[in-house]
Amino acid sequence: MATTTKTLSGRPDQTYHDDLAIVREELDKCMKCGNCMAVCPVYGADKVETSVTRSKIAVAEAILAGELELDDPQVSEMLFNCLVCKSCMTNCPTKVNFDRIILALRAALVRKNGLPWLKRMIFSTLKHPRLFDAGLRVGAALQPLVFRGEKGGKAISPRSPFGQAGAAIGFDGERQMPGLTVTPLRDRIPEVVKVASAKMKVAFFTGDSLNYFYPEAGMDLIEVLSANDIEVHIPKGQSCCGVPVLVHGDVDTVRALARNNLDTFDRTGCEYLITGCGSCGGAWQHDYTELMAADPVYGPRAEYWAQRTYDISTFLTRVIKLRPPRGRVDRVVTYHDSCHLKKTMKVFAEPREILKGIPGITFKEMSAPDACCGSGGSYVLSHYETSSAIGRKKAEDINRTAADTVSVGCPACMMQLLDNVHRADGQQEVVHYISLLAESYRKE
Ligand code: SF4
Ligand code: SF4
Repeated sequence: MATTTKTLSGRPDQTYHDDLAIVREELDKCMKCGNCMAVCPVYGADKVETSVTRSKIAVAEAILAGELELDDPQVSEMLFNCLVCKSCMTNCPTKVNFDRIILALRAALVRKNGLPWLKRMIFSTLKHPRLFDAGLRVGAALQPLVFRGEKGGKAISPRSPFGQAGAAIGFDGERQMPGLTVTPLRDRIPEVVKVASAKMKVAFFTGDSLNYFYPEAGMDLIEVLSANDIEVHIPKGQSCCGVPVLVHGDVDTVRALARNNLDTFDRTGCEYLITGCGSCGGAWQHDYTELMAADPVYGPRAEYWAQRTYDISTFLTRVIKLRPPRGRVDRVVTYHDSCHLKKTMKVFAEPREILKGIPGITFKEMSAPDACCGSGGSYVLSHYETSSAIGRKKAEDINRTAADTVSVGCPACMMQLLDNVHRADGQQEVVHYISLLAESYRKE
């Protein structure tokens, strides 16, 4: 069940997204002990003190004291050299909510200077789902001009290195990534997937990654729900969850996306909302309530859905009694804990429970399954070198398990692992864990 935060500031009209001073109580909790250094993946990769949590907290204190400017280039670079992975929060003795601090800092920077033009253009397109959809369809149609081949139908690579600029963001000839689908998930299915005798109806928030990059995993999720006699509503009007925008400080856009999603899912009349992505689920369980805390109309609706949002694994194992799978899936499987799924949604036991219950699967744990993979959404593009150093460690950990399959619960991690497993000469297939359950059901 979701946990939400109702009181953010004591000020009725604002949240920390609107006023940096509101995070002062979080800053005051930091005793500069440095425990965060041991778990921060960015610090682990670059060993630079300014990368780590306590340095960013010191910078926030200096900004509030008027000793530093937010838009000083060194300060701005420091603020964006963070994956917002929350690893530091798991090792903090005084429970500093660093995610609030970093998001408040970025939002304050955007309030002061506005967004760079490229981000402004991309984020404003997200507010127009039809335009965004049309843009991605054009991208999917033109994709073969720029990307070559398919590896087992699941990955594409640049046809040729994109020069120096491409190499800086990892678009060299070795890059492996999922292709954009020409037929998005929400176009493959009706808005309501009925079953013969439904025992419940749920709404499925697909998110953009499952819709445009991993539609087969989305189809698998629906197939699993159908196999458990659940009617699934997939409203076409849904938009991006907003997390990719939130982490760049564009609070106005993420609030617009949240309002659209709340309106859209209110209309389904469903009792539960299901996600197959830790970032999307975290948005519904936590971010929307925090963003809307001062909104008398959308605040209560955000709370309503926060209490009814479940990752598919939690829904199957804790809300309904999952129909035990009987088909054999002969694979050696390891599982990567996505940061948003484990550290935000607190989901880690449930996917393992499902995987271990599938006949034929031999489960192998990594030495550090919840170490961040280095994706961080667009961090992989903006800080490619650090991101790939973090991804390399993860791929090596995967290789040591001798698994042939890496299962994940978050599409962004799937993308990062696909590339890094390939670069580390790993042969593992990267799949959403729900696809393995669907495979078992299909083999019955
Ligand atoms: S672990 Fe927590 S209290 Fe210690 S320095 Fe890091 S953020 Fe501050
Ligand atoms: S959120 Fe992650 S990357 Fe950012 S400071 Fe904390 S541990 Fe480091």
